[in-house]
Amino acid sequence: MKSELVYLCLLWALSILGAPVNKQRQRVLLISFDGFRWDYDRDVDTPNLDKMAKDGVKALYVTPPYLTITSPTHFTLLTGRYIENHGVIHNMWFNTTTTEKKPYYQTQFVNEWWDNGTLPIWITAQRQGLKAGSLHFPGTASSYQGQVAMVREVEPRLYNYKNETAWRENTDKVMGWFRDQDLDFVTLYFGEPDGTGHRYGPDSPERREMVKQVDRTVGYIRHSAKQHGLTNSLNIIITADHGMTTVYRNGQVEEITLSKIPGFSFSDLSFHLVDFGPSGMLLPKPGKLEKVYNALKGSHPHLHVYKKEEMPERLHFAKNDRILPIILWSDPGYVINGVLQFNKGEHGFDNQEMDMKPFFRAVGPAFHKNLKVGPFETVNIYPLMCHILGIQPEVNDGHLNATKHMLVTSTTTQGEFISD
Ligand SMILES: [Zn+2]
Repeated sequence: MKSELVYLCLLWALSILGAPVNKQRQRVLLISFDGFRWDYDRDVDTPNLDKMAKDGVKALYVTPPYLTITSPTHFTLLTGRYIENHGVIHNMWFNTTTTEKKPYYQTQFVNEWWDNGTLPIWITAQRQGLKAGSLHFPGTASSYQGQVAMVREVEPRLYNYKNETAWRENTDKVMGWFRDQDLDFVTLYFGEPDGTGHRYGPDSPERREMVKQVDRTVGYIRHSAKQHGLTNSLNIIITADHGMTTVYRNGQVEEITLSKIPGFSFSDLSFHLVDFGPSGMLLPKPGKLEKVYNALKGSHPHLHVYKKEEMPERLHFAKNDRILPIILWSDPGYVINGVLQFNKGEHGFDNQEMDMKPFFRAVGPAFHKNLKVGPFETVNIYPLMCHILGIQPEVNDGHLNATKHMLVTSTTTQGEFISD
């Protein structure tokens, strides 16, 4: 009788402790292919992206935050906050008093531009005992409240974005970080197909070739993960910061040239940020705001002009001191002050425009297989990653509810993952 009781107790214990609990830790690799529009796989054969969708999750598209440009939207991926809330409001650092501006690359090194109150996920993960890394991802060069990603490689100046061999080397490097330095979370950035989309336009054969290169690289990334023994622990999320749309040129349309608008004068401004694709921000001189605003509002059928406080709420691009008093943007096809801009493709438009939407794929032990999901906003990727990693997120604008249906279970605990 006694031994029978022990046996029953043992069975009971096994039934609890021996439940199919997968204690394999969960790691996350977040990859951004800059400017990969949601539908770029429609006119190109993409066997590796297709295989990834079959083995994991594919979203129809995702919606980036406004302003749809590189640094602000990447910082949203890293923080889960809208741009007005995380404060990295532009690719360019600027000082309205001195009128100094720094271009995209130099702005990567302006610490106070990035470190302005919101912690990116690398730092949050490290504060909660995990190990984080980053290769070339926007925001990597900055420190945040004195901390940086523990393993990091900042993109070199004058970097060749297109070199497929370098893409493979970077992939292997990151997989080595996971395996040999035991990292939990890494962000990896590729500067294409954005560069090709700008230069040749999103409908060009050059862009289609570049999508093939991205596809081969996706195959290589998954191959490398397997070679490094990471298949059972690594979740790979692949997305982008924004899309791309074709710019009308050469008299196809009436261009938006601010200096030709009656009643508008640059001499009424103390600072401006234009000549930047379809978006602009203006700081009128004292007493000139109404004059500037009234001259521009309604001056061109494809130019949108808003006072900061009248910005549509859905854009979440007003409530930040860095945002200037007048905000401009043009409709797809148009850029503002195009005379000195030669790109055939642009982004920076309203995030409701379908051409601004990026793609989204995810594969790994945390994700369902062969699941297609509807669109969601990219602010929701942050809480998803925190959940998989088992860390407590910072305050953010995303919701796990928007993405948790992609997961094989919604129950994770710190450091372990319970499968159902
Ligand atoms: Zn970009």
